[in-house]
Amino acid sequence: MADLLLGKPVGDGLSEATAAQVEELKERGVQPTLAIVRVGERPDDLSYERGACKRAEALGIEVRKFVLPAIGDILPGPKGDGPAQIASSLERQLFDTVERINLDPSIHGCLLLRPLPEGVNEERICNALRPAKDVDGITAASLAGVFMDTGVGFPPCTAQACVEILDHYGINPEGKNIAVVGRSLVIGKPVAMLLLARNATVTLCHSRSADLPAICREADIVVYATGRPRAYGLEYFANGQIILDVGINVDEEGNLCGDVHFAEAEPVVEAITPVPRGVGSVTTAVLMRHVVEAAARA
Ligand code: NDP
Repeated sequence: MADLLLGKPVGDGLSEATAAQVEELKERGVQPTLAIVRVGERPDDLSYERGACKRAEALGIEVRKFVLPAIGDILPGPKGDGPAQIASSLERQLFDTVERINLDPSIHGCLLLRPLPEGVNEERICNALRPAKDVDGITAASLAGVFMDTGVGFPPCTAQACVEILDHYGINPEGKNIAVVGRSLVIGKPVAMLLLARNATVTLCHSRSADLPAICREADIVVYATGRPRAYGLEYFANGQIILDVGINVDEEGNLCGDVHFAEAEPVVEAITPVPRGVGSVTTAVLMRHVVEAAARA
């Protein structure tokens, strides 16, 4: 039976240190503040926002919400605007909102809930944010920071959460063979870079990787981040492995599950993060730490 690498103790440990930093900042007259920008009422966004607000409140971090209407809720203008004009009007509103946040010295960090609606240039909106307020690694400058260790911006919170879990459970990545499955800019690529910086030997895998089961079986640690419900079964696992399952999926019965077939992994591997109660529960704690660090840097 594998050890469960639960996220809660990791998040609690991070939050304890963050709470102390919040107190210090408040004594210096600084109220750490996070802006959350949301378009519409997508259930995933609302759920993440609720988690972030709860964590922020417990830590004494202020949250200011900026909510824009979903594309379907925007009324066509007098000339009967089509979808392209409506998306472009939403893009302008998002751009203005980000600019307001950039210019407001009382806001230290910004969480932009994504994906943004189709037709909106997400890259342009992300890069409009000042890197100093980019607490979730969405700007090119922050990602460059992850790759080049420039100290600008912050790494994406979920990628950082993976590293925090390893640290908390005393698993040193140095010298280990680590396979990362998934190469998105949100998780796969940044987590690979963060682990490389910790002297792991990293193999970054994707949908075209040949013989993925063999690559995974040979690794000491595997990070799965592909968004494929219970897609990785017995043939991917080996005794003694550590598994970080980043996937958050809903199965056909409506239950939350990871990318890993947990029931097949658990009897084989040494330790695994469950879904839910694993990586996801560390992400908001990392976000709050980034907000407080941004406030301290400001
Ligand atoms: P993306 O869709 O952006 O990326 C998925 C990656 O998986 C791509 O690189 C893709 O490869 C790869 N992939 C797809 N199919 C396969 C396959 N058959 N074999 C190997 N690789 C494959 O997803 P995200 O990175 O944004 O998210 C991944 C998962 O993490 C999702 O379940 C998401 O819900 C979850 N998530 C969890 C968070 C948390 O806090 N725990 C936060 C954010 C996301 P290719 O590039 O070749 O297409």
